Amino acid sequence: MSYRTRIKESVLHAIDAETERAQEKHSFSLERLALLNPERAAAVLAEETGEVAEAAMNYGDQVRHPEPYTTAIEMTRTKLRAELVQVASVAIRWLETLG
Ligand SMILES: [Mg+2]
Repeated sequence: MSYRTRIKESVLHAIDAETERAQEKHSFSLERLALLNPERAAAVLAEETGEVAEAAMNYGDQVRHPEPYTTAIEMTRTKLRAELVQVASVAIRWLETLG
């Protein structure tokens, strides 16, 4: 299996896990929201996207000015990845409602 294929599988697995986590955590169904009130679904996606922007800013700071002798760069990279997975999960669930 190529490196790219392994990464892709890892990303898809993370998105599936995030979708399961979100479905257990939230009282509302994103799928139902997307069908009946797409503006609110867009607000959910925008909120998640804002979290990506914040995480990207923190990671970018670490890339440009790494804190020596800390795991800050790894922690901010992990946070950015998690936020991107959340955006992908919301977008994919919404896309699935549209057929
Ligand atoms: Mg988020």
